Amino acid sequence: MTKLGDNLKINSERLWGAINETAKFGGTPKGGVRRLTLGPEDKQVRDWFRKACEAAGLEVKVDALGSMFALRRGRDMSKAPIGIGSHLDTQPTGGKFDGILGVLGALEVVRTLNDAGIETDAPICIANWTNEEGSRFAPAMMASAAYVGDFTTDDILSRKDIAGVTVGEALDSIGYRGDVAVGTQKFSGFVELHIEQGPILEAEGKTIGVVDSGQGVLWFDGKITGFESHAGSTPMPLRKDALGTLSEIVLATERVVTEIGALGTIGEAVIANPSRNVIPGEIAFTMDLRSADAGKLDAIEKGVREAITAIAAKRKVEVAFDKVWHKPPTHFNKDFVNAVESAAEELGYSHRRITSGAGHDACNLNNIMPTAMVFIPSKDGISHNELESSTQDDCAAGANVLMHTVLALAGVSSK
Ligand SMILES: [Zn+2]
Repeated sequence: MTKLGDNLKINSERLWGAINETAKFGGTPKGGVRRLTLGPEDKQVRDWFRKACEAAGLEVKVDALGSMFALRRGRDMSKAPIGIGSHLDTQPTGGKFDGILGVLGALEVVRTLNDAGIETDAPICIANWTNEEGSRFAPAMMASAAYVGDFTTDDILSRKDIAGVTVGEALDSIGYRGDVAVGTQKFSGFVELHIEQGPILEAEGKTIGVVDSGQGVLWFDGKITGFESHAGSTPMPLRKDALGTLSEIVLATERVVTEIGALGTIGEAVIANPSRNVIPGEIAFTMDLRSADAGKLDAIEKGVREAITAIAAKRKVEVAFDKVWHKPPTHFNKDFVNAVESAAEELGYSHRRITSGAGHDACNLNNIMPTAMVFIPSKDGISHNELESSTQDDCAAGANVLMHTVLALAGVSSK
């Protein structure tokens, strides 16, 4: 906690007003938001955000992938700024909080510091990362991934949406291909405020989630090759049923992940040439395995592979099972996590440590700088849905924790 104590609070009405005002850019009849990255509604919210930042005295820069950086000067400009922010794009039927709270909460922090005449030692920089959601262009979180060096800028610029429009063309069409090279805006660390997108905080009646880790992810593409044959004339022992095989794989996966305490999902399964009186001969499927513990991630992959081998042998079918993505678990920086926890504690909010179930730009940034996240409760744990909701009080609490975390990290000298 800073010397300012817990007296300094953000303006809850102003934050709530900004959330509702920007929700009109892509607003849906059901009260959600459809704001696909780099589309016309994204341009509208970006223009709004740029104007609001400039009105707050910030210098706004845009990088070659359209990520926006708004700098508030500090006393010591030789220090790299503390970064705060998130993303303003949404899912096709998204809500008005996912990502948006993190950017507008950061703006509210700056507005509050301006009102109170507080100068920090290190500068503060608000970031709006391009395409966190990944629904128009893959991969998700592409701009922060390029920022940390996982992809080249040219690679990302060439990615296409379903209509064949590249990221580069989309940036040009809304005027947000910036002149700052990706990665040149430096940070000494980053803090992202976000809704939980899960049920834990609400169920436990806690206001603040102190995020200390993010789950690792394994993605697989699978293909079962059995044999198509007549449903009426093929005796049961002679069948090579691809769907029967997949059913056993689904149940075995549930068993393995439940025993080890992880998560496993078969989210796609497509029968080739489906027909009511043909035994399925070929099925393509996907698998998503998650844990915040690298050891558990290894263990569930091993357990699932062993189960698949045994099931395939018993049923005399072929199963191809290829790993297509491996993201190791994220462990956020201890000092930053402690700073979030101290701010929540001293502001008097109930809190708990929590693992992020979803991926976030902060998980990428943590690869190259100290990073932490602040969560607030999501109503009924719902997100990526127009019904996504959080209360005004919880949004304000999250922004207050963000502000006091940033003050502790950026430093405030007594005059
Ligand atoms: Zn998000």
